[in-house]
Amino acid sequence: MSKKEYSNEEITIIWESEKCIHSGICVKTLPKVYHPQERPWIKIGNATSEELMNQINLCPSGALSYKKLK
Ligand code: SF4
Repeated sequence: MSKKEYSNEEITIIWESEKCIHSGICVKTLPKVYHPQERPWIKIGNATSEELMNQINLCPSGALSYKKLK
């Protein structure tokens, strides 16, 4: 299973594309961060860690998850 990681200074976002059910919640919630047509599609610098964690908690499939670095 392919896994990609995106980090800022506080958290790492883990992206597992095979789990995604394309609900679009991520893009609707944080359009500045998620750009499905671009690579890399997650622009982690465009939101605070708190905004990112709140949004990732809404992902229904677990395709997006995160770990805290501090
Ligand atoms: S919220 Fe999760 S399941 Fe929905 S499109 Fe984004 S990554 Fe996929």
